[in-house]
Amino acid sequence: MSVSLRQKAVVGAYVLKQRLAGRKRYPLVLMLEPLFRCNLACFGCGKIDYPDAILNKRLSVQECLDAVEECGAPMVAIPGGEPLIHKEIGEIVSGIVARKKFVSLCTNALLLEKKLHLFKPSPYLFFSVHLDGLKQHHDKSVCLEGGFEKAVSAIKAAKAKGFTVNVNCTIFDGHPAADVAEFLDLTVELGVGVSISPGYAYERAPDQEHFLNRRKTKELFRNIFARGKGKKWNLTHSGMFLDFLAGNQEFHCTPWGMPTRNIFGWQKPCYLLGEGYAKTFKELMETTDWDSYGTGRYEKCANCMAHCGYEATATEEIMRHPLKALGVAWRGVKTEGPMAPEISLKEQRPAQYVFDSQVQLRLSEIRANEAREKAAKAATAA
Ligand code: SF4
Ligand code: SF4
Repeated sequence: MSVSLRQKAVVGAYVLKQRLAGRKRYPLVLMLEPLFRCNLACFGCGKIDYPDAILNKRLSVQECLDAVEECGAPMVAIPGGEPLIHKEIGEIVSGIVARKKFVSLCTNALLLEKKLHLFKPSPYLFFSVHLDGLKQHHDKSVCLEGGFEKAVSAIKAAKAKGFTVNVNCTIFDGHPAADVAEFLDLTVELGVGVSISPGYAYERAPDQEHFLNRRKTKELFRNIFARGKGKKWNLTHSGMFLDFLAGNQEFHCTPWGMPTRNIFGWQKPCYLLGEGYAKTFKELMETTDWDSYGTGRYEKCANCMAHCGYEATATEEIMRHPLKALGVAWRGVKTEGPMAPEISLKEQRPAQYVFDSQVQLRLSEIRANEAREKAAKAATAA
């Protein structure tokens, strides 16, 4: 999300309030997935591999707004799937903006120009366009020739209409640091902020070969950041998170910092891993065994350094150690010298593969609901 002064002030006051209230766990960003259907099939995507009955489901406007109220986070990100496919996305976004929450609408931009009329520019609304690099790299990443031009054209169109636009860029193995740096130079020309993160190794992603391990991630980001000294890249992350990406901090993740609500319910434990679902946000917070997740605890978390797991940790670190945060801000991200020691993976529990059973369970629920609705309609008609 772009970080305006207004947003910084609101989020800072919210975090302070949570800390003063003695809350150990609180959400920063609600990840609201109103559907899984997408009009692309990117090689690193772990979100769209579902049967049609699930891809056809949508969260209603009311369910989305209820989730926003229930969660209470000051920021809402709307990923998917492709949210612009949702027929009521305009109402969902305007309802969240009316509640004075900062909304980041994540989109691959294929439909953005056509659907801009559904939205009104607001200091609370940002488009976050999926752009994984320069043309050759982005088109390969989204498996679509011409995807890059389409995204850039949509960015320009949205900006021309007065919207704030950022890009979200996922980095995979094999993306040279020099190319990423050149891409970041382009984002300065485009006048957009950038959210950048290493791709999480989704077990359902079609391509399992190009996910970065932890060491490679840190080396690559050091290499990228070293090329950015003196440049005006607008990376929309805290300096502490960037310092973590470059291997100078070792953190445990904060999975409750960005809780996920999707068509299945509240996802346990985080946006990246779906190992169970709670019916309410309260149930998610109270019944998830948080200590059994994270690097060093669970095999599927071993290489995760994604911003949705660690930006909230970085925020907490800034609050707990303001002098350290000032040091990072003063010196910038360190791109050489020894790295912080790695978390040991010796004690991690082995991965559990629950995807198929979860899908079967959801399909049975969908069918039972459909049968109930059909019976109710037949009874009304009779
Ligand atoms: S645009 Fe996003 S949701 Fe769609 S396939 Fe690509 S990564 Fe997945
Ligand atoms: S490390 Fe944390 S954020 Fe990453 S997948 Fe595991 S639980 Fe989720």
